[in-house]
Amino acid sequence: MTVKINENYLLLKSNYIFAEINQRVEKYSKENPEAHVIRMGIGDVTRPLPQAVESEFIKAVQEMGQPETFHGYGPEQGYDFLINQIIEKDYKPRGIELERSEVFVSDGAKCDTGNIQEIFSLDNIVAVTDPVYPVYVDSNVMAGRTGPMGDNGRYQKLVYLPCTEENSFVPELPQEKVDLIYLCFPNNPTGTTLTTAQLKEWVDYAQDNNSIILFDAAYESYITEDDIPHSIYELEGAREVAVEFRSFSKNAGFTGTRCAFTIVPEELEGYDAQGKAFKLNSLWNRRQTTKFNGVSYPVQVAAQAVYSSEGQREIKENVDYYMNNATIILKSLKDVGLRVYGGVNSPYIWIKTPKNMDSWQFFDLLLNKSHLVGTPGVGFGPSGEGYFRLTAFNTLENTREAMKRITSLQEEI
Ligand SMILES: *Cc1c(COP(=O)(O)O)cnc(C)c1O
Repeated sequence: MTVKINENYLLLKSNYIFAEINQRVEKYSKENPEAHVIRMGIGDVTRPLPQAVESEFIKAVQEMGQPETFHGYGPEQGYDFLINQIIEKDYKPRGIELERSEVFVSDGAKCDTGNIQEIFSLDNIVAVTDPVYPVYVDSNVMAGRTGPMGDNGRYQKLVYLPCTEENSFVPELPQEKVDLIYLCFPNNPTGTTLTTAQLKEWVDYAQDNNSIILFDAAYESYITEDDIPHSIYELEGAREVAVEFRSFSKNAGFTGTRCAFTIVPEELEGYDAQGKAFKLNSLWNRRQTTKFNGVSYPVQVAAQAVYSSEGQREIKENVDYYMNNATIILKSLKDVGLRVYGGVNSPYIWIKTPKNMDSWQFFDLLLNKSHLVGTPGVGFGPSGEGYFRLTAFNTLENTREAMKRITSLQEEI
């Protein structure tokens, strides 16, 4: 025996939830071949790239095939043409000024939210909301920051911030001092979000405790209500305490095309063991230039086209399409008497399972009686037990049919 593995990987819980879902659906479909199973658990967009994006994408690919317009390695941080659009169109209209050096274009918010922990010491105390997007937890497990999982389904060294009906899915400030705080609003999986005043409390907490907030705004474009911040930098003082992650995946259908960006303000600082301050921007820049070679030129041109007036019109159409589904789902579920959350500023609908069923019992009921597939809430963390996630990413036709089936299930829920 010579090669030793990173044993932190052995502390990961197998991603059993989605494997288990597929297994149960396959078994059911085999035994009931006539059943039309509708998947309402889809965590991926289904509408194609906007036309405005597709045509620019094609042109950029053709440029790559000509000696005069070929592009080799680009800047690891992204091309200025895209960074300028991000600053001018996503931030300036909300009163937020960013320097080009503060924007890092990448191939995904999953990668960035997973990688960001690398620039922080293993000693930091990490807080996550519960239920949670699993990437934040698992990337810290792999790094060795969490210790093993206890019987309560919680990693021993992580601080969990439960988000349940009891607190209206608004996490309470930690009792102890935490260093890194992952927040995702509008939230996956609960579909709920924070008002400006509620997010302000977190910025203030971070200021008071010298913490850093890692703010995932992947669902920013689904916000419909007025008092919901689109960026954490709308809040005073946030530039000193927050990194923000954005993505073209959920607004512009880039889940298979891959483009996102992360904002690391120049004010953000971390400290070495001697208490000397260092810029997080410089550390992240060093990390990216060492381990990342930039997003491909055609993809960045495609992302730039998202900001054209035609692109903006088309992505709004797609978001509206999904949000119309969300509205239908919300109304139908409320009409049958279920307690439901989210679905207003988010494509996710979070259901309290009825009659004290656990997440998997409700999964089996919907599959067996209605041929519907969703995601058991417990798969997103221990506080997700007793909840269930549906998404608005299916077609309007399937969404309507799915709701008809749930309505006819009234007696059992
Ligand atoms: C979908 C999603 C993202 C986006 O990830 P990409 O890698 O950019 O596709 C980020 N965070 C959350 C919580 C998500 O659900």
